[in-house]
Amino acid sequence: PQPPEEKVAIVTGAASGIGLAIAERLARDGARTALFDLDGDAAETAAAKIRGGGGRAVAVPADVADRDAVARGLEEVRDRFGPVTILVNNAGKEGFRRFLDISPEKWNEMLAINLTGTFHCCQLVLPDMIAAGWGRIVNISSSSTHGGQPYMAHYVASKTGMVGLTKSLALEFGPDGVTVNTIPPGFIDTPMTRRNDARGRFGPGGIEEAISRTPVGRAGRPEDIAAACAFLVSDEAGYITGQIIGVNGGRNTS
Ligand code: NAD
Repeated sequence: PQPPEEKVAIVTGAASGIGLAIAERLARDGARTALFDLDGDAAETAAAKIRGGGGRAVAVPADVADRDAVARGLEEVRDRFGPVTILVNNAGKEGFRRFLDISPEKWNEMLAINLTGTFHCCQLVLPDMIAAGWGRIVNISSSSTHGGQPYMAHYVASKTGMVGLTKSLALEFGPDGVTVNTIPPGFIDTPMTRRNDARGRFGPGGIEEAISRTPVGRAGRPEDIAAACAFLVSDEAGYITGQIIGVNGGRNTS
């Protein structure tokens, strides 16, 4: 099958940071783009800005951990834009806690959003891609999956689960024309990292210290992730699947 002329994309967690930059970029590249986010108002503001710039975008308030909400949102997108052929699983929650203090509730909550949310979105959207004989999935994991990270065991476990899911889906759906890759971002300057710095979670020196350990000598920008993502979802990237494409300024550690 030929690549679809009109691409329809879903980006989750698209109201802020990395997801917002990805949604803006995919819309600029011509995709009809649905911005899924817990924060429906912020998603609507972002979608309106994209529309104001001539792009096609719609906001969908949805918690990715809620399968029914994802299914309802997907129906809305199909009605409005048609079948979905690009999915970027970016919605995520971070967490800092000593391992011995992670309650089963906190553990389950982390996995429900980062890993099971990705499962729901992939499973619900894949039938559109299979029918089209063309699809692109990009999962935003984390550079913490390379070497682990203390005080974030639940987060790192959830993100590492996304890496395994990526590799397995790539094998299972390659014959259907669907590629599945993961981008583990390094240190990216977003509202999430700013919040964590304000809480002192990066330790003394915070962001400056993280930059000093980054070979290219700067923090990543959401646009750095969006650029890699735009390539992975393009027609040209059809021979790249099951891969871990680090975007981290050369810092291949947590
Ligand atoms: P952010 O907090 O700026 O944005 C995250 C967005 O996701 C928010 O708009 C939030 O409302 C939304 N969201 C959260 N939970 C959701 C849910 N259950 N359903 C739908 N939407 C939800 O964060 P960011 O820094 O842009 O991070 C984006 C992704 O990149 C996350 O998965 C994060 O783990 C990952 N990541 C970020 C960095 C970094 O340095 N910023 C590094 C590695 C990985």
